[in-house]
Amino acid sequence: MNGPTDATVHDVVIVGSGVAGLSAAVYAARADLEPLVLEGPEPGGQLTLTTDVENYLGFPEGIGGMELIGNGKAQAERFGAEFTHGTVENATLEERPYELDLSNGETLRTRALIVASGASARWVGADGEDELMGYGLSTCATCDGAFHRGDDVLVVGGGDSAMEEALFLAKFADSVTIVHRREELRASEIMADRARDHDAIEFRWNTELEALHGSQEAGVTGATLVSHPDGYPSEKADAGVDVERESVDIGGVFYAIGHTPNTGFLEGTAVERDENGYLLTRADAAGRATTETHVEGVFAAGDVADPHYRQAITAAGTGSMAALDAEAFLETLEREEAAAPEIST
Ligand code: NAP
Repeated sequence: MNGPTDATVHDVVIVGSGVAGLSAAVYAARADLEPLVLEGPEPGGQLTLTTDVENYLGFPEGIGGMELIGNGKAQAERFGAEFTHGTVENATLEERPYELDLSNGETLRTRALIVASGASARWVGADGEDELMGYGLSTCATCDGAFHRGDDVLVVGGGDSAMEEALFLAKFADSVTIVHRREELRASEIMADRARDHDAIEFRWNTELEALHGSQEAGVTGATLVSHPDGYPSEKADAGVDVERESVDIGGVFYAIGHTPNTGFLEGTAVERDENGYLLTRADAAGRATTETHVEGVFAAGDVADPHYRQAITAAGTGSMAALDAEAFLETLEREEAAAPEIST
């Protein structure tokens, strides 16, 4: 895309306004780098979809996800970070300043880039999900749970998110059934115990969602579940193994099966990604981990580069690291420019 190119060359643009982006913004702003933070399609990131955050250090009683994000943004703004809405469609990273083409046609130019674009909810691939997403099918209980007062609902997944979604939904729904593709939960013991101990929550083991029934007018009215005693029933059905199918009447379905990193805009650049799209970072000359990607001056923070820990606190930590790395990079660049003034960046 070739939109208008603002003559401004930013020192640091931060793609993403979740906890990683905000933490990077606080550090970069305090270093006088006047970071520009791009708030994409999910401003504030995943924490805005969470109720209580109980494991973020410093809040003994927990803190609401929205509140934590709101505080982080105010903190970054206090030190001079600027926020603007914008989704990056394409990045050109062959030479500095790097260029970011936004979906509104604008092009931003920056000397350093911090990618903190997070990860988005994955979809199961069940029949009918395209039509019914947002019409009784959701990836966010916090957002849509209250629409399901008195309903019987399904939650798909077996991790902490599935437990959290189920516990939240149990405040509104008559019954919540967690549908998990095997017999063992991935969730932490504490979250799993809370779900197991709740009267309104049941589990359907070795079961997957095959199809959703309903319409945009009526919402979700039912689902086809497929099960096999050895787990992973959809895979077995695809391989021609006999599986059991059952139609159930339900009023809502919530997906909680993990996330995909938002790195599509880096396709075609030299930034390296793993097989699932997560950004890879590299070690410095001494072999120590950094947040720098395989493109000099491009740093990664938060879930976009972390398929493993994926915690708010680790995202905040890597956000601060990315800003410190970017600051050091810009200082080196400045020294190099001073030594060789004819090379413009
Ligand atoms: P996750 O831990 O990756 O769990 C995803 C779950 O979905 C797994 O149980 C997985 O099954 C299942 N799944 C994946 N693809 C599926 C498919 N196509 N069909 C059916 N099931 C599928 O993701 P998460 O629960 O979103 O958690 C992500 C991270 O955030 C974790 O580190 C978690 O601890 C953290 N988190 C923490 C809290 C909290 O502490 N309050 C809350 C939410 C999330 P398998 O188990 O068979 O792979």
